[in-house]
Amino acid sequence: MQFRDLKRQYQNMKLQIDVAISKVLTDANFISGGQVKELEAMLAEYVGVKHCITCANGTDALEISLMAMEVKEGDAVFVPDFTFFASAEAPARLGAMPVFVDIDADTYNMSPVCLEAAIKKILKEGRLVPKAIVAVDLFGLTADYTEIQKIADEYGLLLLEDGAQGFGAEYFGKKACSFGDISTTSFFPAKPLGCYGDGGAVFTNSDEYAALIRSYCVHGKGADKYHNVRIGTNSRLDTLQAAVLIEKLKAFKAFEIEAVNKAAKLYTENLDGTTPLPCVPEGYYSSWAQYTIRVKDNEERSRLQAYLKELDIPTNIYYPVPLHALPAFEGKCVSTETTVTEKACQCVLSLPIGPYITEAEVNFVSEKIKEFYKKEN
Ligand SMILES: *Cc1c(COP(=O)(O)O)cnc(C)c1O
Repeated sequence: MQFRDLKRQYQNMKLQIDVAISKVLTDANFISGGQVKELEAMLAEYVGVKHCITCANGTDALEISLMAMEVKEGDAVFVPDFTFFASAEAPARLGAMPVFVDIDADTYNMSPVCLEAAIKKILKEGRLVPKAIVAVDLFGLTADYTEIQKIADEYGLLLLEDGAQGFGAEYFGKKACSFGDISTTSFFPAKPLGCYGDGGAVFTNSDEYAALIRSYCVHGKGADKYHNVRIGTNSRLDTLQAAVLIEKLKAFKAFEIEAVNKAAKLYTENLDGTTPLPCVPEGYYSSWAQYTIRVKDNEERSRLQAYLKELDIPTNIYYPVPLHALPAFEGKCVSTETTVTEKACQCVLSLPIGPYITEAEVNFVSEKIKEFYKKEN
């Protein structure tokens, strides 16, 4: 069994994708081909924002967005303690100080209560300037944007949505990647919408941010490419990846997002009462980047993981270490409350899921987990 079955996805769309790729090869418009503009328009329309600017990957999308926000040395940037490294790596690369914020125990997303406490702590210390919040849509569930935006407004902070895992999700009728001042996503192959290599995108309703981001992505270009007005970088989405994504986005909208929700629902029905399952609060719709269950402790997790591995059922731990405890951030971050994150790192286990997992596979995995717990108890 595959953890996320990308082979099945390709077999299902082989015809369209092969044609799309072959057209790029024939036209030889490898950089900035028409497909890139076409995809950006499709993405902006789907998400419901004015501008979409594609770039080389989700990490660049974060960094370039923070550059547009003028995040720099001396600034405090608030990031959840429980997320992929890149959410905090981006502000750190710009010289800003990541301030790690604990998560909500049910959703695994940034806790608004802990966020406000962290901002107050930084203000009280007076060493750093609170500048921006990076809120993450972890495992496909958006952060609590009503509360987080309220706090951002109250303290005058910019809000960046890291929607790398959230593309396709909804929060009270609004699509992920449309929250805050700027939002980003990743098209890494295993994300909810993935390409065949690296890719990313930035979303914003602001004309000023959009213009700045377009410039930063192409060496700080001005009116033309060889009139550079600022120090930027080279971060573009290849035409090949755009061509693949155009086809994949069609399938994503037509049936994939529904299919992955159906698989998650089946897991939840099957496993109800076995062990704590992912929580999708009222008003939320997940894109199920991961289906993450919770076990008692690290020892039980190792036993369950080994048991499933024997049966050819792959599982993964997202994430085993809180960001504040990683060597890269030693002495280079501020950490506040960490209890919920520490516990989550010991207990989470992600199961195989995706739009192409079959009902039989979900039933098989569920049966085996129930069997494991029968033996344990
Ligand atoms: C994957 C991911 C990123 C980085 O995306 P890349 O395209 O791999 O650079 C950033 N943030 C989160 C939460 C992610 O899951």
